[in-house]
Amino acid sequence: MNKLTSTVLALAAAVGTAAAGSIDGKIADSEFQPLLVDQVEAAPLYTLQCNVVLKPDGFYVRHGVDQIFGLVKEFYGDIGVDVDFRFYLNENDLPIALPASFNIVELGIDEIADRIIKPEREKLQFILENASAQALDYKEKLDELRKGEGYSKVTEDFYLEVVATYEDLAVMSKSKLDALDSELDSYYLFRLGEAHLGDNSVFLLNPLSVSLSELTDKLSEMLSNLGYENDSRPESYYVKSGADTVAHEIAHLLGLGHTFDDPNIDDYVSEGLPNLMSYRSVDPAAKYGFDITDRQKRQIVDYFKRLD
Ligand SMILES: [Zn+2]
Repeated sequence: MNKLTSTVLALAAAVGTAAAGSIDGKIADSEFQPLLVDQVEAAPLYTLQCNVVLKPDGFYVRHGVDQIFGLVKEFYGDIGVDVDFRFYLNENDLPIALPASFNIVELGIDEIADRIIKPEREKLQFILENASAQALDYKEKLDELRKGEGYSKVTEDFYLEVVATYEDLAVMSKSKLDALDSELDSYYLFRLGEAHLGDNSVFLLNPLSVSLSELTDKLSEMLSNLGYENDSRPESYYVKSGADTVAHEIAHLLGLGHTFDDPNIDDYVSEGLPNLMSYRSVDPAAKYGFDITDRQKRQIVDYFKRLD
C-alpha cells in the first residue's frame, strides 16, 4: 500500500471532528457540527464513487489530501451524497468511469496543453471546416434554386438562413481558435479545474500545483505580480480553495451549471459566502468556504433519482 492510499484510507475517519475542526481555527469546537449519523440516515443517501489520481508533489498533496478531500466529502454528505474517494497512483490503474462513478485527475502544467488545448483545437478546427463546407454547399444550392425552374421564395429564405447560420458558426469557431493560444496562459494562471461530461471525468488544473521555478519567466512574472510569491493567505484558504475546485467540478458532472449562466442564482449564497458554482474566491472564515442553494441541492439529488 502506498503512502497516498494509506493517507486516504484514513479519510473516512478524518471526516469526523478532529481533522475538519482543525481546518479552520476560526470555527470553535463547540460550533463545529460533525456529520451526524441521524442527519444522513434521515436524508436519502446516494453514493458517488470518485477515483482520484493526484500529483505526488502537487497542490493537493502539499496542502493536505485528507483535509481537502475530507471537506468535499463532508460538504456532499450534508446534501445526502456519500462521496467515496478512492486514490490511485497512476491513471492506468483507474477503473472505467460508470454512472455515479467519476475519475478525477490532477494535471501538471505540461500536460494541460496536450490534454486540453490540443483536443479543443482539433474540435474547433473540425467545426470550422464543416461549417465552411456546409455554407458553401448551401450557397451553391441557393444559386441553383435562383437559376432553376422550381424557384420558391420559402426555400430561398430557408437556404439563406442556413448559410447565415453556418457562416456565423465558422466565424465563431475561427475566433475561438485564434484565442486558444492566449487561453493557454489563462489556463496556467486561472483555471482550476475542468469537467468532461462525456467521459465522466474531471481534470484538476490548479495553477498553484507548480512552483514558480517550473513556470516560464513570463508566467512567473505574472504570478508574482498577482502576489503569489509572498503569499500571506492562511493555510485554510488553500484547503478550502482546493475543496472548492474539487466540489465545483464534481457538481458540473452532477448537472450543475455556473451561477453566471443562470439568472436565478446569485454569485453569493449569503453575505460574503460565495456560491460553489461561481468563480468567486472562497471565504476562509466559512465552514466550507462556499455553499450552494437549496435549488442546486435538489438538482444534485435529481441527478441520482434519474439513475435509479
Ligand atoms: Zn465550472
